[in-house]
Amino acid sequence: MRLPDVVVVGGGVIGCAVASELISRGVTVRLLERAALCSGASGANGSLIWPQAMKRSLSLELTLANFRLFPTLGEELGVDLAYRRSGGMVAIATDEQWDEMRRYVDGQQAVGLPAELLDVTEARRREPALNPAIRGAVFAPYGGSVNPFRLTLGYARAARAGGAELLPGTEILGLVRRGDRIVGVRTPAGEQHAGLVVLAAGSWSTSVAATADVRIPVVPRQGMMVVTEPAPFRLRHVLKPIKSDRDPWAFSQPWPAESPGTPGYDPNLPPGKGMGISQTEAGNLLVGSTSRFVGLDRMPTPDGIRYIVEHTASVVPAVRTLRVLRTWAGLRPYVPDGLPLLGPAPGVDGLVLATGHDGSGVNLAPVSAKIVADVVTGAKSDVAPQLSIASFDPRRFEGA
Ligand SMILES: Cc1cc2nc3c(=O)[nH]c(=O)nc-3n(C[C@H](O)[C@H](O)[C@H](O)COP(=O)(O)OP(=O)(O)OC[C@H]3O[C@@H](n4cnc5c(N)ncnc54)[C@H](O)[C@@H]3O)c2cc1C
Repeated sequence: MRLPDVVVVGGGVIGCAVASELISRGVTVRLLERAALCSGASGANGSLIWPQAMKRSLSLELTLANFRLFPTLGEELGVDLAYRRSGGMVAIATDEQWDEMRRYVDGQQAVGLPAELLDVTEARRREPALNPAIRGAVFAPYGGSVNPFRLTLGYARAARAGGAELLPGTEILGLVRRGDRIVGVRTPAGEQHAGLVVLAAGSWSTSVAATADVRIPVVPRQGMMVVTEPAPFRLRHVLKPIKSDRDPWAFSQPWPAESPGTPGYDPNLPPGKGMGISQTEAGNLLVGSTSRFVGLDRMPTPDGIRYIVEHTASVVPAVRTLRVLRTWAGLRPYVPDGLPLLGPAPGVDGLVLATGHDGSGVNLAPVSAKIVADVVTGAKSDVAPQLSIASFDPRRFEGA
């Protein structure tokens, strides 16, 4: 098969990972980014890798396939990714939650994943910063964190070293469509034609696709984050409170099946449930985040920040005593059925989508890049042989 020359739209973790993977397979790549590389959600997230949050599902399969790629990735990219497989803990507040979490642990073990239920004494022995008032914790050993800037820029560097052209500061004004085919992109400097366009524009993917009358169901889901001053202690794990009293299984992202374009999060969930706490190498705590559908608004609010601090302080009380250095809000590219869009766009040729990773794009970048490169090159890599590419095919929403 003759490999197409590819234009990638978007220089977040997904666009850069796709560019790097395509280059490694001999494809000619040009990546166009409106602002700076890593200036979207990829530079605004919680840095968590949390593969053990879900029941047996496609999302879990995808996350686990990906999890196998991380330990060697830094070496492959020639970058210290600050990848820490620290394990994660979910703090349990009540007896009711304890019973639910016992079922969660049994469920994890039934699908071959290790997990432990710890009483408060054991939980605090392992993680002294935990609140003594909690009932206990679940320990999930596959949790961890990575530096998302180093991951994104590491992919960018590898792509550039392989011969990709990376052009930050280049806005795509629209896709160029001839009949049923996308033949390139329109920039302020004119049209750039390509054999194939890969759309990795995160929360902006829907509006870019719409310029060529291609309808895709990506909706921005805003989340705020808080960074504290360096803490005078080191966390040994990444930490989370339980997300919902009604469905504690959903302590990471809920995955509701809703119609495209309709944000499907449980309206009864408080806006900030689903928190996470991680620590940077320098000791700062990275805490967040909230969940709101407010279009492309990237402004944090005092209420949201307060909510984050109060909620995470119920897990690590010291959060309340640390000074806040910085806050921001970022936009997760949310898709109603909870699975990313990886593959041919609906209704046109010449356009491949690599978007819709919602709150897991850092986590899922390595495996997503391989799936997209498989689609572009027509080859099947062995990274996730058990995963069917068809499950992520954006055409599943066609006509919806
Ligand atoms: C608060 C928050 C917390 C999160 N926590 C985690 C976490 O702990 N773990 C995890 O795995 N994930 C997390 N995520 C999700 C993760 O950050 C995203 O899934 C991921 O970054 C998406 O990457 P992307 O490359 O698709 O999008 P983005 O990083 O948003 O990149 C898209 C890029 O496209 C560019 N672009 C847009 N339009 C155009 C145009 N017209 N022309 C040219 N360029 C364009 C943008 O400038 C942007 O740089 C979190 C997200 C948020 C907001």
